[in-house]
Amino acid sequence: MDGSGLPETRSTCPYCGVGCGVLLRPDGQGGMDVRGDPDHPANHARLCSKGSALAETIGLEHRLLAPRVDGRDCDWDSALQHVADRFSDTIARHGPDSVGFYVSGQLLTEDYYVANKLMKGFIGSANIDTNSRLCMASSVAGHKRAFGTDTVPGTYEDLDAADLVVLVGSNLAWCHPVLYQRLLAARKARGTRIVVIDPRRTATCDSADMHLALAPGSDVALFNRLLTTLYEGGALDAGYLRQTNGFDRAIETAFSDDARVTGLSPDRIEAFCELWMRTEKVVTIYSQGVNQSSSGSDKVNAILNCHLATGRIGKPGMGPLSVTGQPNAMGGREVGGLANMLACHLDLENPDHRAAVRSFWDAPQMPDAPGLKAVDMFRAVGDGRIKALWIIHTNPAVSMPEADAVRDAIAGCDFTVVSDITAATDTARLADVLLPATAWAEKEGTVTNSDRTISRQRSVLPAPGAARPDWAILAELGRRMGFDRAFDYASPAEIFREYATLSGIAGQFGRDFDISGLARMTDAAYAGLVPVRWPVTAMRAGGRFFADGGFFHADGKARFVPVSYRAPASKTGPRYPFRLNTGRLRDQWHTMTRTALSPRLAAHMPEPFIELHPEDAAAQGIAPADLVQVQSPHGRAILRARITDSVQPGQVFAPMHWTGETAPSARIDGLVAAETDPVSGQPESKASVVALSRFKAA
Ligand code: SF4
Repeated sequence: MDGSGLPETRSTCPYCGVGCGVLLRPDGQGGMDVRGDPDHPANHARLCSKGSALAETIGLEHRLLAPRVDGRDCDWDSALQHVADRFSDTIARHGPDSVGFYVSGQLLTEDYYVANKLMKGFIGSANIDTNSRLCMASSVAGHKRAFGTDTVPGTYEDLDAADLVVLVGSNLAWCHPVLYQRLLAARKARGTRIVVIDPRRTATCDSADMHLALAPGSDVALFNRLLTTLYEGGALDAGYLRQTNGFDRAIETAFSDDARVTGLSPDRIEAFCELWMRTEKVVTIYSQGVNQSSSGSDKVNAILNCHLATGRIGKPGMGPLSVTGQPNAMGGREVGGLANMLACHLDLENPDHRAAVRSFWDAPQMPDAPGLKAVDMFRAVGDGRIKALWIIHTNPAVSMPEADAVRDAIAGCDFTVVSDITAATDTARLADVLLPATAWAEKEGTVTNSDRTISRQRSVLPAPGAARPDWAILAELGRRMGFDRAFDYASPAEIFREYATLSGIAGQFGRDFDISGLARMTDAAYAGLVPVRWPVTAMRAGGRFFADGGFFHADGKARFVPVSYRAPASKTGPRYPFRLNTGRLRDQWHTMTRTALSPRLAAHMPEPFIELHPEDAAAQGIAPADLVQVQSPHGRAILRARITDSVQPGQVFAPMHWTGETAPSARIDGLVAAETDPVSGQPESKASVVALSRFKAA
């Protein structure tokens, strides 16, 4: 209760991976007050502009309130039977790999678990992938290569204790604002130094001691130079290195790389390397500028190599920290909601792991090879290999690279189901069947944030119309496809207990992800669950990993991964001379299906734009506020010019939020090439090539 006497409910913000706790007080008329939860370890009462405006985004405008088949409202029974029949028929005629699920980091962990179980254990395909593939798949791949599992070593508390925080490809001030507030508070208290490594001068640079505006995609060369500096400067931790393998090859490869490709002066590079080397308590935060790259996994490992070489990992104030874009990107990783993973950090390609999960689920089948990752999945939709597709809480017709081709692929798919809170997305308009799902403030379940903290989301508003929770929709489909017993769930608490029990089996295989300590929670305990960082076992709750080694490769040692600079996959040239960087704005979220409902948020940046350097604007005859035609090999957009030296000559930046619904000529991901990292499958969203010209209306 707060001072007004009305009950408040603890929940979690549904936007970014910081995972802030919120206190919600409904007004009984469909609205509510929102404030930051002072007891949540991620935010200690802080909220950013998006979190503060949550109450403005819960209205029923554009809500999907009833199932729709072929454009007509119908009841759940008819809609779900139709979906079950079409999926079953497609599988019977073309095999399990002829269907796919494309899901989202917006799903709660319990929803994600059921979707993954249905596809991998019962349909018998690994064709389930997620929009988190666009967000942090390279970090997952980098962690697995170095540590043996997808383990985040550090915690947010490390930011409070660090003396140097290096932000690589991360506009923390806008994309993870509460973490940024936390960093600024630490800086005030202890003088934390901040270095930003980013081709663009972002809002985060305003408080940086150093900004290294390196050439796009050259992070590996910079961190290789750091590794050689640490070696030559005698800064290696010989004791810690004994808990690792592969240093000799990694350092040899690092010496063969050439830091001049960064475009940074030798003095700047040396100043950065010296500062890193001479500061013991260093945290390296990285985000989409690292992950969204055709060399994203190598960038991650170049960073991890430096922390492993110095033993600066898993100790207070030290370590690498990947920050995720979505509220439950981490939960999706934990339940194996990616095409190449099994639940609870078990490996799809490991026969013992497969057998254990199959036995636990009593599943009729289990694929033994990875399914199609996001980009390949939509290619398979386009060429007819996937004939039935279910898209959940995401808008790939706008947000996938080469979005025009993805939109055409979905339009041409034999059978497409979309479950979402709204029918007003570019993707929902293409669906044969629309299923109304409950929204953030109407759902019960859990999410995991970027520092492994599991928090509850709780419902404070009734489900509108016929909307249902995602876990219930998925479980009902499973039952209607003939898997009654496996999907006979009564509540998210029941799903969570099953998942926590399975994690104990993963623990027996020596995996990191183990929450078996929560497997016997009663419904009441689940209802009252307070934020808790995994692992949670009988022996341990939370903390950091790897301070004393103890990695998850078979020999218990970490791996150095030798990595060399690779240029972005798309090459500039006379036809497409500019490199396009895409990103997020402070006050918008994904394709704006929620944040656009808040006038306050929309006022921050009311229209789509492109940032270009004054020299380039002059050369192209473009004046401030002119409309600019942006042409890539894959699409075209018309955007307002913002002329600024925050981007370097030859580079342009455009935000990715606007859609065919909000600004038909500004679908940025229509311009982006579907080039992917060979290890992670993550698309390179920040280094496509484009041509610019002043737009003249016909
Ligand atoms: Fe929500 Fe992220 Fe803002 Fe926290 S920082 S309030 S999780 S959007």
